[in-house]
Amino acid sequence: MRDTIGRFGGDEFAAILILPEGPQAAVTVVDKIRESMRRPFDLRGHEVTLTSSIGISVYPDDGDDPDTLIQYADTAMYRAKEAGRDAFRFFTAEMNAQSIARLDLEIALRRAIENEEFVLHFQPKVNIATGRISGAEALIRWRRPGHGMVSPALFIPLLEETGLIVRVGNWVLREACRKIAEWGKAGVGAVHLSVNVSGIQFFVGGLEEEVLKVMREFDIAPELLELELTESSLMSNAEETITVLQHLKALGIRISIDDFGTGYSSLAYLKRFPIDKLKIDIAFVREVTSNPDDAAIVLAIINMAHSMQLEVIAEGVEKDAQLAYLRRHNCDEMQGYLFSRPLPEEEFEQMLRQGQCLQSPQELGVLNQPTLLIVDDDAFMLDVLSDFLAQDGYRILTAQTAAEGFDLLAHNHVQVILCDQCMPSMSGTEFMERVKNLAPDTFRIMLSAYTDLSPIMEAINHGAIDRFYTKPWQGAVLRENIREGFRLQTQQHGTVLLASH
Ligand code: C2E
Ligand code: MG
Ligand code: MG
Repeated sequence: MRDTIGRFGGDEFAAILILPEGPQAAVTVVDKIRESMRRPFDLRGHEVTLTSSIGISVYPDDGDDPDTLIQYADTAMYRAKEAGRDAFRFFTAEMNAQSIARLDLEIALRRAIENEEFVLHFQPKVNIATGRISGAEALIRWRRPGHGMVSPALFIPLLEETGLIVRVGNWVLREACRKIAEWGKAGVGAVHLSVNVSGIQFFVGGLEEEVLKVMREFDIAPELLELELTESSLMSNAEETITVLQHLKALGIRISIDDFGTGYSSLAYLKRFPIDKLKIDIAFVREVTSNPDDAAIVLAIINMAHSMQLEVIAEGVEKDAQLAYLRRHNCDEMQGYLFSRPLPEEEFEQMLRQGQCLQSPQELGVLNQPTLLIVDDDAFMLDVLSDFLAQDGYRILTAQTAAEGFDLLAHNHVQVILCDQCMPSMSGTEFMERVKNLAPDTFRIMLSAYTDLSPIMEAINHGAIDRFYTKPWQGAVLRENIREGFRLQTQQHGTVLLASH
């Protein structure tokens, strides 16, 4: 696809731009045109400058035939002239507002670089097995005058679009190395820091030279520096990336893939990238204890990482149950609000000096003790069932909602589950369907007071339920079958329907 430019007559020119990134991308082209027009030139010994006024119409939003589009672009151009010349205007007000906001932000960001308005915060990473801080991720913040602390999500994309990310990214790299060196000297210790790197820094920013330069400048051990790259930046130019990464790796720097699982990693490439670590994206961690698909993805990533001799870290860990799940499945490290938010440097330093540790999640209990989980929204029923079954020596856990049930399953090794069908937020059958995938080796028994058998039949046919009883249940039969459940739990369990009256 090509752009077209032509002269309309007099001092009027028209350009047709094809912008797959969307109409706002016209602003970049317009800026370039204005900039080159503004450049002074020599006219028979006189220095002359020109300005341009530019109007923009957008196909198909503003019109779908050439005449309309030309007419609207013309109208927009006159508005640009009215605005004092050397300006541009879109035909629609909404597009104008957007592009002006973007322009304001860009100007403010350029100023932020000059005035050094950026700061780094540090979010600790924790080794799950030892509970100790294993390092931190450096995350940029913008102390924008009049706006407080601005999140990177709001300005990184524009820094990338404008190419300013190279300067800012180099600043981040330099600051991170400076902190590593400072902490080393100040007796805080050898702190591993990771830095987020944008794909643009890779290709146009001369990342390799930059890294070498700052490492020499601050004389830091290379293994203390880790670069976090996203899948998309790795994949967008894979062959070149492999070369650059190999050089960085040869220096001794560590490399991890951020937000792993959200991009389209090619597994064929994955094994060729010289990476050390995968970071499981927060999107899969959020519901890892209750959503079987997320749990399956997290498990697959952990297993894949380990079988490729890579380390694996989960980000966005907020709950104890998530941590318990990750620990149980041998995830190496965690990062998230559960342990700490990203902190200003003094606070992070203090945390290191105090040797703050991650509390182990509520312990799993004796591993071999037979454990029964009872889920029922009716508290009275929970009491009756637990009292009755406690006589058989099981460790009994109770939950009044499916959510509590998932939490308990994340924390504990449960063999047999007894669940009521009729619960307000999630039915027993849905709970069991999920548990079937989350904890497949449990033996699952359903109790139901009501007679709509179809969801139950379906759950049985899916293998989500191993036994089914109607309420009121008969103590002796239930007891015997729970006992049998514990016996069968280790074996392959068949599906048997027992209705007791
Ligand atoms: P990221 O690299 O995936 O960083 C993790 C983000 O998750 C951070 O957001 C962090 O504050 C947030 N987070 C950590 N723990 C939790 C948690 O338990 N729950 C929730 N809900 N969020 C958690 P932040 O600091 O806003 O950064 C957002 C993104 O901006 C980063 O995602 C990264 O892609 C980018 N970024 C940040 N600093 C830089 C930088 O210096 N350079 C570049 N290129 N990108 C950066
Ligand atoms: Mg990151
Ligand atoms: Mg991430």
